[in-house]
Order: sequence, then C-alpha cells, then structure tokens
Amino acid sequence: MEHNPPPPFPSPEELKTKITEFMKSNFGDRVSVATFTQPEPAAMDEPPPPKTSGEEFVFDFLPRDIKAHLDRFVIKQDEAKKVLSIAVCDHYNHANYLRRLEKEDAARAEETEYAKQNVILVGPTGVGKTYLIKHIAELIKVPFVKADATKFSETGYVGGDVEDLVRELVQKADGDVNLAQFGIIYIDEIDKIASAANLIGRDVSGRGVQTTLLKLMEETEVPVRSMNDLQAQLQAAFEFQKRGKAKRETINTRHILFVVSGAFERLKQQVSRRISQGQIGFSAEPVKVMDNELFQFVTTQDFVEYGFEPEFIGRLPVRVVCEDLDANDLYKIMKFSEGSLLRQYERAFRAYGIEISFDDEALRLIADAAAKEKTGARGLLTVFEKLFRDYKYYLAGSGLSQLRVTAELVREPKRVLDRLMAEGHKIEAQTLEADVRQFTEKFRNEHGLEVIFDETAVRRLVERAQAERMTVTDLCAHLFKDYQFGLNLIKKNTGRKEFVLNAEAIDAPDKFLSDLVVQSYYPIAAAQKA
Ligand code: ADP
Repeated sequence: MEHNPPPPFPSPEELKTKITEFMKSNFGDRVSVATFTQPEPAAMDEPPPPKTSGEEFVFDFLPRDIKAHLDRFVIKQDEAKKVLSIAVCDHYNHANYLRRLEKEDAARAEETEYAKQNVILVGPTGVGKTYLIKHIAELIKVPFVKADATKFSETGYVGGDVEDLVRELVQKADGDVNLAQFGIIYIDEIDKIASAANLIGRDVSGRGVQTTLLKLMEETEVPVRSMNDLQAQLQAAFEFQKRGKAKRETINTRHILFVVSGAFERLKQQVSRRISQGQIGFSAEPVKVMDNELFQFVTTQDFVEYGFEPEFIGRLPVRVVCEDLDANDLYKIMKFSEGSLLRQYERAFRAYGIEISFDDEALRLIADAAAKEKTGARGLLTVFEKLFRDYKYYLAGSGLSQLRVTAELVREPKRVLDRLMAEGHKIEAQTLEADVRQFTEKFRNEHGLEVIFDETAVRRLVERAQAERMTVTDLCAHLFKDYQFGLNLIKKNTGRKEFVLNAEAIDAPDKFLSDLVVQSYYPIAAAQKA
C-alpha cells in the first residue's frame, strides 16, 4: 500500500473555513467563528518575548501618601480613604517582603502565613467606591479591572468566566504578566450573589460564584490563554507547530488585590434590629443606607445571615463603608474635586469658543437637584446633561463668547437660553457688519471703485452669511467676484465711481450688474423707462 504523508497543517483561512463548516454542521447557525488574523511572518518567527522579566513592580508609599492623593479627587469618605490606604500599603508591602524572602530563602517564603487584605466596600451607588479604587490603582501604577458580580454564574459568565478578570489585568498591563500579578480586581454588586441563606435549600448559583471567586482570592494559577478563546487556542497551536512545544504561561493571583462592593440594602435593618433587640439604643428606622457609626456593629455573622458563605466573607477582612452624599457634598464635589464635572464642561464649551463660568448659587441649585436623583454623584451627570444639552447645541457658533451660569439660568434654562441666543445673534451681526465695511474698503483700494451697501443689502448679507455659515468676507468675495470688470465698464460709459448695492444685488448679483451695464449704454432710454 502506498504511504501517504500526513496532510500539511492548513493555513489560517482554511482552518477557519473547516472550523466554520464543522460548527455549522453540528450546531447550525447559532454559532459563528470569530475571524482571527495570522500573525505577521516576522511575528510568527520571533514571537514577542513575554514581558514577565525585567522591570520589577516597585511599591513605595505610605498610607498618608495614598490618602493625600485620594483627598484631591474624592470628597468625604474619610474613613474609607484611611482604611483603604492602610490595606493597600499592607498588601503591597507584604508582596515586597515575600519577593525579597523568596530570593533569600524560598522555603521560608513558602511557609510565611499572611491574611490577604482583600476589601469589602459597603455603600450606595455613585458615592465614589469605584472612583477610590481607580485612583489608588492609578497612583501606584497597577492595572485595574472592574466587573459586576451579577454577570457571573456558576459555570462562567456571559462571554467568559471569572478567570477572564485576571486575564483582563494582563491586557490592561499591556501584556505584562508580572505587573498584572499585582493588579486590583474590583467586583461590584457582590450583594446580588448573596444566597437566600435563611431558606432551606440555598440559591445554588450565588453560592457557586462565591466558591469560584474564593479560589481566585486565595491563590491560584490562571492560564494566560483562555480555554474558551478560540483565537488564543489557535495561536497556541501555531506556536506549537512552529516550535514543537507549547508555552505554558500562567498568572498567579496571590498578590492580586480583590475589592468587592455592594449597597447591602438589607444590612442596615438587619443590624439595627439586632442591636435594638440587645438594647444598645439604636432604633430600627427604615433607612436603607448604612453609615459608619452603625457599621461598627456589623459582624461576620451579619454577612453570613445576609447570604454569604463564611469562608467567602472570611477572605474579605477589610470592611468599610462609603457614606451617602447629600446636596452639600455634591456641591463640594463640583467645587473642590480635581475630577469635577465643571472642568469637563469648561473644556466642552471652550471647544466652541465659549468661556463658561459658574455662580456659587447656581452650583447650590444644581447640587440640590442632583441630590434628588438619589444616585450619589452620578445625579450631577444627569442634571448637567439635561441642563446644558440645548445650550451646547444652540450657543455653539452663535457668536457668544461668555456663558455665566447663574441661579436664574438653572431655574429657567429655556428663557435664559432664548435671551442669550438673541444676544449672540446681535453680537454676531455686529461683527459681520464690520466685515462688510472691510470688504468695501478692500474693493476701493484694489479697484478704485466705491461699492456702497445700503441698509437692506447689509441686513441681507448678514442673514445669508449666518444661514450659510460663511464669513461675510468670503460671501462677498464669492458674490462679487469679477464685479470690477462690469463696474469699470460703467465707469467708462458714464464716469460713475460710486455704486449703491441693495438687497436685490445680494440675491442676484449677476443680474443686478448686467442691468446696470445695460443702463450705462442706454442712459436716456433707461431714464425714460424709469
Ligand atoms: P460607585 O460608588 O457606584 O462605584 P463611582 O465611584 O463610580 O460610584 O462614582 C461615579 C462618579 O461620580 C465618579 O466617577 C466621580 O466622578 C463621581 N464621584 C462619586 N463619588 C464621589 C466623591 N465622593 N467625590 C468626588 N467625586 C465622586
């Protein structure tokens, strides 16, 4: 029997077609295959070296450095800033210590016991929980990834699984696996995966997710390439084919800091009830939001009753509350935070040539309106967007160069906008009229002819320039191009040097000029006709 050599490894295109056919025949049209690109030949030969070696992650901050940095951006939340600053320093100092020890005495490093400073942040929406963590990550220069716990299920979450969070850190660190291993993972809405603990037969999915997260929070190795990522697996197959061995790269989660957060709306009632039963003097008022005072009484048992596994809560030893923001806090955020929305609006209006400024009284009114939204500082975004939408649209290009946001503007935005637009038009018209004068001067200097626009002509020019979004100078140059030839002819016939143009000349310049020229040949006939 003839011996057939094995078929050559297919090209990426062939491979994709084959896989697509296979998927289609097995799963119908429900499944599609993402396109992958074959790496450039050079890249195939020389895959970029993983950035794991080389630069070491350096941590050299004191808790007060971190707090001071946060104070520049985050208003209120003093307790959270302090607790987070300490937790972050402890976490990364320990990582530093372990790395040093590993070099000197690997066995001792292995034995060192340490309770990781993972954090649970309790607080309502929009009060700065994410903002705090984001600014910490920026300051200490580690990658930061945020996800919602509600996306997870026991078997994976929409579009991937829990481990994808760790891989995302690598992406955020531009492929630097070493740095990714010191990143921060922030998981919001953690209270939504609390299982119904008080019922018999727990909510299985919430519990399963807790277990999966628990593994990550302890220590585990996550492959750099997802098993579910067809493109990454094919890439690995190409590398394998090229080099004869597959590179196994993993990310260790030991030094990744985990922060989980949620509103924990039931927690306040739960704790105040318990405390009032124990006669410590708290009444069980029906307010949902937890404050720092009450939070001191929250125990691990409270979280367990809430629906968390004791092991899961046990891995989150740092617990802190971000408090609700009132109108005064929102005012301070606008006024004093370096990340204030005011800066964003100043930039947006400046791009349209408008300097915007805000009266204090106006900011107070905006803060009051935003507080009513009950979405923390996010309420500011909503109020600003609604208030300034029409202002951006109508004032951009209106000729107005200053916008002062007054209390009246906040109270009656529509009326003030109408007034400003009328003003803007007036200012613009004045500039345009100056342009008209400039054109006539230029025409006189260049051609020795006097063009005079009467009042109706000026008005019409300004109207047309505004409607056609042209400068008057450009519009005149366009309308009266070559006018000097006709006018010179008339000058020759009649000796006239001055020409009065009216609105008709603006609307039909060619006809207007040719009528004038004709008249200059038949002055008597024209006079009789008139
Ligand atoms: P959450 O608490 O829901 O995570 P965020 O931190 O995402 O809320 O807050 C949304 C936005 O509101 C932030 O990007 C920031 O601009 C602003 N913000 C929220 N809280 C504060 C605060 N305490 N100080 C300054 N700005 C804040």
